[in-house]
Amino acid sequence: MMEATSLHRPNERWTHTDRHGHIHQWWTNGAPATSYHPTDHFITPTLHWVQTGIEYFEDGAEIPIGEHRCVRCEEKVEPGYKADDCTQYVPGLTRYLINGRSVSKEEYLRRYLEEHPQ
Ligand SMILES: [Zn+2]
Repeated sequence: MMEATSLHRPNERWTHTDRHGHIHQWWTNGAPATSYHPTDHFITPTLHWVQTGIEYFEDGAEIPIGEHRCVRCEEKVEPGYKADDCTQYVPGLTRYLINGRSVSKEEYLRRYLEEHPQ
């Protein structure tokens, strides 16, 4: 077993109703999420991601910057995340990805803290 405790994972209890009355929440296994497990795949089917700009890694690699918006009214919606409040374990190797690029745990944590000042 590998530890998979996350500082930033979907909050299965998050719901948001936008100004047009559209309800947003995490879904997993084809239904609104009611529990969390680190191997579950969470999606927000009522939102889509829109690129609004580009930033650059120190090595010049591009980082797309964007926001989530309601698929029906385009209102900006910030999906709800939280940190794990207990240690989580999953089978197998742990990989750390930033925008699909594999990085070390140290780089992942450094970049997380840069983007989410305490
Ligand atoms: Zn909406």
